[in-house]
Order: sequence, then C-alpha cells, then structure tokens
Amino acid sequence: MLEKEFWKNKSLDAFTHEEWEALCDGCGLCCLIKIMDEGGEEVFYTDVVCRYHDSQECRCTVYGERTKLVPTCLVVTPDIADSVEWIPETCAYRLLAEGKPLPAWHPLVAGSTELMHSRGNSVKGRVISEVRIPESRLEEHIIFIWNEA
Ligand code: SF4
Ligand code: SF4
Repeated sequence: MLEKEFWKNKSLDAFTHEEWEALCDGCGLCCLIKIMDEGGEEVFYTDVVCRYHDSQECRCTVYGERTKLVPTCLVVTPDIADSVEWIPETCAYRLLAEGKPLPAWHPLVAGSTELMHSRGNSVKGRVISEVRIPESRLEEHIIFIWNEA
C-alpha cells in the first residue's frame, strides 16, 4: 500500500522498490530507439519503438525479463536519474532528481493514465515498431535531437 503523495520530500534512494516502480508513468518515451553519436554528445530520438513495446496499450510486454531480452533497455536507477542527461525531460525519475514536482498529468497525481495519453505525453499510438523499420532507414525517423551543448 502506497502512502499518499509518498514521492514528496524524499531523496531518490529512499524509495522502496514498490514506490520506485509506481513512480514510472509508463509513458514509453525511454523505449524509443535512439541513435547515439560516438562521443555520446548527441542523442537522436526516433519515433521507432522497441519491438517489445505494445504501442496501443502503451506498455512493455516483457517487463520481467526486459534486461535479458534487450540489453540496451534503460532501467532507471537513482544514479542514472541523477546523471544521464538525455533521459526524457518528462521522465518522473528525472523530474524528481532535478527537485521538480510530478506534473498534473502524471498518473499518480491525475489518478489514471488518461490525461497523460490524451496530452501526448506518452508514445501511445504514435510510434512504429522497430520490427517494421530496417536499421538503414532509422535516420529518416529522427524526431528530436538531444545535444550536450
Ligand atoms: S521515461 Fe521514465 S517515467 Fe517514462 S516510462 Fe521511461 S522510466 Fe518510466
Ligand atoms: S524491453 Fe520493454 S521496457 Fe525495455 S525498451 Fe523494450 S519495451 Fe521498453
């Protein structure tokens, strides 16, 4: 059972496993296929999503074994939330790491995922599975560039 507004006034490493999992809004933005330059200074986000993402339901279909099946799957930890700069700006873990509040559309605040999806804060229904896009055409699907500078 989660306490009301448990995410407030708590450091990232003080969350229980259950609380940490509940913080994930399920937006799927971290499941987008990214192209990284060699130095890691630029990260190109595409509208192509991991083969295991169900974009209609907006969920990972292999959550329990995701790291085994997808070695590049981003499992956010307190350290990663605090140090990896190209994590999606709206990611709940990143927001908390930056000392920001959860937005009104976050399912924990809004009470459901409806607002998040209707506002376009998730990938629901807006992405193409990587099984349909050959790697050679990935660059045509770039939608956003994160630049370190
Ligand atoms: S971007 Fe963050 S909040 Fe969204 S699904 Fe990924 S880990 Fe969860
Ligand atoms: S394995 Fe699941 S959580 Fe990991 S990138 Fe793919 S869909 Fe997302």
